[in-house]
Amino acid sequence: MSLSEIRDRIARAEAEAGRAPGSTALVAVSKVQPQARVEAVLEEGHRLFGENKVQEAAGRWPPFQERYEGISLHLVGPLQTNKARQAMEMFDAIHSLDRPKLARTLARLAQETGGCPDLFVQVNTGEEPQKAGVLPADADGFVAECRALDLPVHGLMCIPPVDEEPSLHFALLAKIAARNGLTGLSMGMSGDFERAIAFGATHVRVGSAIFGERDYG
Ligand SMILES: *Cc1c(COP(=O)(O)O)cnc(C)c1O
Repeated sequence: MSLSEIRDRIARAEAEAGRAPGSTALVAVSKVQPQARVEAVLEEGHRLFGENKVQEAAGRWPPFQERYEGISLHLVGPLQTNKARQAMEMFDAIHSLDRPKLARTLARLAQETGGCPDLFVQVNTGEEPQKAGVLPADADGFVAECRALDLPVHGLMCIPPVDEEPSLHFALLAKIAARNGLTGLSMGMSGDFERAIAFGATHVRVGSAIFGERDYG
C-alpha cells in the first residue's frame, strides 16, 4: 500500500463516521524500516512519524531533520525513566505514559526545562499481563494524578489484544477519555485504523500498511 492510499482510506472513514475531514492525525510508524522507505514518505510530504524506541529514533532522525522542515516525532513505545530526558527533547508527543514513576519523572523534567511533550496515558484495555498501560479501573485515578503534577495530558492510547475485536477496546477507551474530559484518542493500527476512526480516534498509528512489512532479521 502507499501513503496516498492510506490517506484516502482515512478520509473515507472520517466521512462515513460523520467526522470533519482532517480530524484524524496519521502517525506514520517508521520503527525498524529502512531509511530509504522513510525518506520516500518524507518526499511525499508527510511530516508526522512515530517511533517505539528512543535510541532508534535518535539514530535515525537528526539527519532527516536537517533536510526536511517541520518533522514531528511521536514516541509510541514504552519509555524507561532513564531515557525520559532524551525523549522529552526529541518527541512532540509521548503516547506511552503508563505508570506513576514515569509521571513523576516527566513532571520533574518539565519543571526543570519549562516544557513537556503532549502526553497520552496508555490504558491496557484488554487487561493483558504482559502489556503496558494502566488498567481501565485505575485510569481515572492515574489521569488525576498526572494532572495534579501539572502534566499536559492530551488523551489516552491503547493497543487492543491481537485476537479480539478491537472495536470493543476502542469504545472503552473513548468512554474513559470522555468521562475524564480528554479529547485525544491514540488508537488504530494498520489492520484496524478505520474502525478506530469510527470510534473517534484522533491519532492513528500506522506502520506496515504505509512502509511495508517490518524486517526484524
Ligand atoms: C508498531 C506499532 C504500530 C504500527 O503497527 P502496524 O501494525 O505496523 O501498523 C502502532 N502502535 C504501536 C505502539 C506500535 O508499536
